Amino acid sequence: MSRDLIIAGNWKMNTTPTTGEDLVTAIDERLSSMPPENLPQIVLCPPATHLARLASMTTRHPFQFGAQNVHWAESGAFTGELAPSMILAAGASWAIIGHSERRRYFGETDETVRKRAERALAAGLRPIVCIGETLEERQAGATFDVLRRQLKVGLEGLTLTGKGGLVIAYEPVWAIGTGVNATAGQAEEAHRFIRDRIAEMWNSEIASGTSILYGGSVTDQNASELLACPDVDGALVGGASLKVDQFAGIIAATGAK
Ligand code: PEP
Repeated sequence: MSRDLIIAGNWKMNTTPTTGEDLVTAIDERLSSMPPENLPQIVLCPPATHLARLASMTTRHPFQFGAQNVHWAESGAFTGELAPSMILAAGASWAIIGHSERRRYFGETDETVRKRAERALAAGLRPIVCIGETLEERQAGATFDVLRRQLKVGLEGLTLTGKGGLVIAYEPVWAIGTGVNATAGQAEEAHRFIRDRIAEMWNSEIASGTSILYGGSVTDQNASELLACPDVDGALVGGASLKVDQFAGIIAATGAK
């Protein structure tokens, strides 16, 4: 495959340092029965309080770690924020940016997404930029206008490299934590649209190298169908990433790619 295949777990505000460590150990043990060459890149995004501790664990599988947000400044009076260098120093190399919960509850906008993504890329972090429409927007037939705006305002002008760089997560807001996932057809249609916009905004080589993850109520039951879509390059998993059997099942489902 010309793109990175990635399963990322967004733990949100769940786990303590101890239960987080237990979860990493349990996932590691479950993966030991799977041939390593068949596994995708696995990125775990725990709360920032235990990022460094989990990233320093000795595991069989080379997990990668990410923060759930990243700020655009290197230091200063930004209470509650994390600088890119802090995330890197914790042993993590990824950052989720613009998650719909950040947009909804903490005032994140396409403009702040852009600032965060630009700085993360410059600092050598791999951003997972989340975009997606609300239910009202989908019902109003505005899905593609919303995605176009989020990509344009959130990313236009950034220096992208394609494979190995920025990752986009298509996360329809109505599918996050609801148990109602997008159908494979809806996911593929949105992913194709996103890839076409990347080709327009940069070029086709960057578009074909950029991984686009699907997120929204992914489980071990629906993962195979979603991951079989040609433009779905992995998943950003919330609730199911906290359940060892579920998460391992989603990872195993990438074997169909
Ligand atoms: C998420 O929070 O990014 C997410 C996709 O959540 P869930 O898998 O629980 O829908």
